[in-house]
Amino acid sequence: MTSSPFDDYLTRDEEVADLLRQEWVRQTTTLQLIASENFASPAVMAATGSILTNKYSEGYPGRRYYGGNQIVDEVEDLARRRLTALFGADHANVQPHSGANANLAVYLALLQPGDTILAMRLDQGGHLTHGSPASITSTFFNFVSYGVTPRDDNPESPGELIDFDHVRRLALEHRPKLIVAGATAYARRIDPAPFREIADEIGALLMFDSAHVAGLIAGGSHPNPVPYADVVTFTTHKTLRGPRGGAILCREEHAKAIDSSVFPGQQGGPLEHAVAAKAVAFREAALPAFADYTDAVVTNARAFANALSAEGFRCVSGGTDNHMVILDLRTFDDDLTGKVAQEVLDRAGITTNRNQIPDDPRSPFITSGLRVGTAAQTTAGMGPDEFAQIASLMARTLRHRDDESSVAGVHGEVAELCGRFNPYATFTK
Ligand SMILES: *Cc1c(COP(=O)(O)O)cnc(C)c1O
Repeated sequence: MTSSPFDDYLTRDEEVADLLRQEWVRQTTTLQLIASENFASPAVMAATGSILTNKYSEGYPGRRYYGGNQIVDEVEDLARRRLTALFGADHANVQPHSGANANLAVYLALLQPGDTILAMRLDQGGHLTHGSPASITSTFFNFVSYGVTPRDDNPESPGELIDFDHVRRLALEHRPKLIVAGATAYARRIDPAPFREIADEIGALLMFDSAHVAGLIAGGSHPNPVPYADVVTFTTHKTLRGPRGGAILCREEHAKAIDSSVFPGQQGGPLEHAVAAKAVAFREAALPAFADYTDAVVTNARAFANALSAEGFRCVSGGTDNHMVILDLRTFDDDLTGKVAQEVLDRAGITTNRNQIPDDPRSPFITSGLRVGTAAQTTAGMGPDEFAQIASLMARTLRHRDDESSVAGVHGEVAELCGRFNPYATFTK
């Protein structure tokens, strides 16, 4: 596949070309189960590798600080129009370089340093930018954190769901100016309505960070937070299947503050090649085929969760409503840490990431959990049968992790499976 008319020139840089070839082989011959990853379409990649990377365009369409932006203005306007139409929003900013930038831009637009924000704690499923001590967000703002309800061994009510009583109690006690909904390691549907109710009760603003589920929302598989939230942030590269980047949607009243917070507040020149690629992804996400895709992502995740449970893993919150499954490894093998599981699975060609589970006794570097997702391999065309097979390959690898020939045997089966589902064979011109 060529991504631009200049692809051949890269062969003159053998070192980089060789690394890109190696990564191509890695992505297409091993299983990509990291829940935040996907395979962007060739059209998205062509725009990402396009001539727009040459252009400086500080500012916004019609209000640039450099000349020569007539066409770039049209590109960015097209991206904004497609995005507001996709989610039914008043205003869009498509310039954030990443999800983290988008979140920080919102905090700095709506709040004063030192103001209080109520968000989900990292080890309960929240993101670093939701106030982790390791994130710059916690330097500027006072975070109060909510979590999930305790685990319950009753399969009818497994617990580990967002604890709205806790959210409300903390809201009334700390009167945050902003409440953040959304998570990075949470397998259940997040309903925006109860967050809105609590925000209204204390006169707080509501931001919905839909970094992970933006694609599921666009495809109609998850509720759209736009009618409920003052601001919605997301990444364009996870379930939305676009280029790496971030975006912000907001109500008209916040448009000016959000735009000036992104530029000149935080960023300089926008990456207009990425903006063009975002426009391509927004069009793709509006097509009927994308709704079929997100439907399949969710169906596959359910099948994956069932098969993993049957192998002895415990699914945090008892299962999944979205594209990810958070596994508690302790029921499978009490000695197995997330760190070791991730490393062993890597040797078998199965790419995952370790993750803390709620109230994890182990550190974020070691962990007792593993996070897996179906977004990428569903793009490659895999279905429930393949995910059931992957669950059994994962269990076999981890059960026989000290037996190199067994791990190598799994690697062979993984290569065979990936050979039948090359992601770049499914996209048509
Ligand atoms: C991935 C993620 C982000 C950050 O996105 P980056 O592009 O990695 O900066 C922010 N919030 C949530 C909930 C995420 O899952």
